[in-house]
Amino acid sequence: MGEFDLIARYFTRPVRRAALGVGDDCALLAPAPGMQLAVSSDMLVEGRHFFADVDPEALGHKALAVNLSDLAACGARPLAFTLALALPRVDETWLAGFSRGLWALADEHGCELVGGDTTQGPLNICITVFGEVPTGQALLRSGARPGDDIYVSGTLGDARLALEALLGHITLPGDVLARARQRLERPTPRVALGLALRGVASSAMDVSDGLLGDLTHILTASGTGALIHTEIASDLIAEKAYKSSDSGHFDLEMTRQCTLAGGDDYELAFTAPPDRRSAVAAAAQASHTPVTRIGTVLAQPGLQLVDAAGAPVPHRYASFNHFA
Ligand code: ADP
Ligand code: MG
Repeated sequence: MGEFDLIARYFTRPVRRAALGVGDDCALLAPAPGMQLAVSSDMLVEGRHFFADVDPEALGHKALAVNLSDLAACGARPLAFTLALALPRVDETWLAGFSRGLWALADEHGCELVGGDTTQGPLNICITVFGEVPTGQALLRSGARPGDDIYVSGTLGDARLALEALLGHITLPGDVLARARQRLERPTPRVALGLALRGVASSAMDVSDGLLGDLTHILTASGTGALIHTEIASDLIAEKAYKSSDSGHFDLEMTRQCTLAGGDDYELAFTAPPDRRSAVAAAAQASHTPVTRIGTVLAQPGLQLVDAAGAPVPHRYASFNHFA
């Protein structure tokens, strides 16, 4: 099977919202009047972002999910995406699985594949997503103000827990690993929550590299600091059974590492003024997405971590950084 048959077979479907999809030199998008285009790219590299033997269907899901997560963080509605793919060889079983996972999530969000590029090379998947957001209403990292509440959606740390087990650093009971692995391999982009937070959140971003490191980006962009309740954040790990089944120092530290700096969560971290608490609760309810208040924005720069008793927790939770 050649390049063009492969594209026709696995990556071409009629478009409905875009003006032109796969097949010409450019795709054509038609954003509605009064809308800005939100654009983001995320690349997944074998050995760096996923294991060579990962289920291709899960990989198709994740490649798009991490991109949709960026649109969610901006409060943008998904419109379309392009797919640049380097493949070592044509493996039809792999392509069928990968495209199945990709199309399923694309359909769930009404996001159309409109073009891309296909080449031979080490397995590498780069998706660019396009979304739309009413002019001036995108959620940005720079809007946090002293006194704002800090929230995070969903659960934290389970993806990292699975990664630690898959790397052989820890041992997990089979059912715990299976559930945590779902979070690592099939993250849920919080698109509905992002849309519901437009006009409510003062700043937002998605948590991809680890909560504290990602929050620092909001604080830097906003020129603020923050106080974070580490016990509240650490309690957001779904696999609490694992946390309490073993005891002692190792567990607390591992749970903190996973939740505060785990990476691959794809939850939204956002801020909102305290007088918008009921609006935040309404956004969470409307989008069927739990959110938890984990801290407060401070005027003084820097991150202050406190435990349940209010005592300081030393910050030694480094987030993921490719060239660090
Ligand atoms: P060009 O040579 O003009 O860059 P190509 O010959 O590479 O275009 O691709 C032909 C068409 O197929 C284009 O419309 C391109 O956007 C699309 N395409 C290529 N690879 C993919 C892919 N992996 N997924 C979706 N569309 C693709
Ligand atoms: Mg061309």
